[in-house]
Amino acid sequence: TTTISRRPAWLKARAPSGENYSDVLTLMREKSLHTVCEEARCPNIGECWNHRTATFLLLGDICTRGCRYCAIGKGKPQPLDEREPERVAASVAHLRLRYAVLTSVNRDDQPDGGAHIFARTIHLIREQTTDCQIEVLIPDFDGNWDALQMVLDARPDVLNHNIESIDRLFRRFRPRASFQQSIELLARARAFDPQLVTKSGMMVGAGETNSEVIEVMDALRSADVNILTIGQYLAPSASYWPVDRFVTPEEFAFFKEEGLKRGFTHVESGPLVRSSYNAHVHVGANQH
Ligand code: SF4
Ligand code: SF4
Repeated sequence: TTTISRRPAWLKARAPSGENYSDVLTLMREKSLHTVCEEARCPNIGECWNHRTATFLLLGDICTRGCRYCAIGKGKPQPLDEREPERVAASVAHLRLRYAVLTSVNRDDQPDGGAHIFARTIHLIREQTTDCQIEVLIPDFDGNWDALQMVLDARPDVLNHNIESIDRLFRRFRPRASFQQSIELLARARAFDPQLVTKSGMMVGAGETNSEVIEVMDALRSADVNILTIGQYLAPSASYWPVDRFVTPEEFAFFKEEGLKRGFTHVESGPLVRSSYNAHVHVGANQH
């Protein structure tokens, strides 16, 4: 496969602006906080921050995995920062966020994969705010179900775990992760609480076919996942997994239709869709 470098017009995002956006940006700078929104140069930053939605990266910025599409630093991570939950919770309150997404790198070096940091951050946000919904976008914890339980016991509003790709590509695209294990994680979250809103997402244009995308939907629905996000895969640079194709807006619309038919309550499917894109809208419609 050759690297496709010219992006079609539908992948060009507008420059961020807006009153809330500037407000959040200033505060993030003052508190020197790390958000995925900025670090991943997310194209939706203007829209999300204007809705007071942001995604925090917990557990440091070095990952013990080496997914082929991911630009995050790889290697030996720093020790966990046990004060991180306090800083994140204080910032969520300070920024008056309405929707906070907590995510992290994988920490296979930690016995619980860092799950207690997720749990404590949720507790502290709940203590300090009354109207902020919390979504956790968790790693697979290497199949440590006690770690998953720790996060579930803290009662997030939404449990998100991205499947990211099709089973056939997993071994190369996401070494050290497993399609089945990720489906099992989502099924276990559902078994823990039938009312919990569960969510998953995938990237397309990485070498899968459209019918394989539909197969992923069926696997996710077998774990009774409620919300699905599908977005275009874009390689961070030429040394990463190559883009195979640019999925057209019509194909994204087709995925949305097929997803809704299969029983997802919400499907966000579009070129610029990212895992936490429009997250506030889904949960608003999904109050429980
Ligand atoms: Fe941040 Fe997620 Fe919105 Fe991107 S989609 S700006 S990462 S909250
Ligand atoms: Fe990136 Fe997540 Fe893979 Fe780590 S586990 S390399 S953060 S995608």
